[in-house]
Amino acid sequence: MDLGLSGRRALVCAASKGLGRGCALALAREGVAVTITARNAETLERTAEEIRRATGATVTTVAGDIATEAGRAAALAACPEPDILVTNAGGPPPGDFRAWDRDAWIRALDANMLAPIALIQATVDGMIDRTFGRIVNITSGSVKAPIPHLGLSNGARGGLTGFVAGLARQTVRHGVTINNLLPGPFDTDRIRGNAGALAAKAGLSVDAFLEARARENPAGRFGTPDEFGAACAFLCSQHAGFITGQNLLMDGGAYPGTL
Ligand code: NAD
Repeated sequence: MDLGLSGRRALVCAASKGLGRGCALALAREGVAVTITARNAETLERTAEEIRRATGATVTTVAGDIATEAGRAAALAACPEPDILVTNAGGPPPGDFRAWDRDAWIRALDANMLAPIALIQATVDGMIDRTFGRIVNITSGSVKAPIPHLGLSNGARGGLTGFVAGLARQTVRHGVTINNLLPGPFDTDRIRGNAGALAAKAGLSVDAFLEARARENPAGRFGTPDEFGAACAFLCSQHAGFITGQNLLMDGGAYPGTL
């Protein structure tokens, strides 16, 4: 299927690794010129070169923290009028809610709620004026089914989801859709980073713990960043203009509900 995206411009945040990288790669394969951001300039450049080599697309890099105003200003200076915005940032740390003070909450809200909202605010009117726009927020399966030790994520992403639900209904008549992609377990650094404490608690090595978790998933495995990127590219496609305000859970069927 031709996604009709050739020649479009995308800003893909937090994209040197993992799910953001998967989205950038999938969009670049469709002929989209992508601007990718991440905090570590070296890893970011390496990823950009890999995407250029694999796709021939134009890839621009912006090193910086997307959770800060300076990081967002730099990203928007490099890609001031994106047709596609993929918001993403590292997830908050796991832990016990009793240990989280105001600063811990502000950090989580900054990264996983307020940064995407600020980026949407900065780009959505231009998309409306140009009568085309696609915004995809990488959130988490925790929005649909809270993860007990990831309370900061459950809370911050819930706030973003509520905001998007209202806005997505206002922009769609102008050709601008806003949707959220909810990853369940995907094979990235993040899942490995979060597994340490849980593996220790279960008396397993991180590898053994992750293998057991993958086997427990109805799909018998974790998802891949390529699969995630392909779903993102479809939501960004010209064919997806009637899909807005949705929360697409990608978890191999782990969520047990009928709806
Ligand atoms: P990852 O650790 O593999 O990659 C994160 C990427 O984001 C890296 O490129 C990193 O440099 C960049 N990054 C992190 N914080 C940033 C910031 N403040 N500014 C700029 N760049 C930043 O993580 P991932 O697995 O791809 O996860 C992406 C998002 O999806 C995270 O918010 C994560 O919590 C969420 N998520 C992931 C899973 C999973 O199974 N992988 C499940 C649920 C939710």
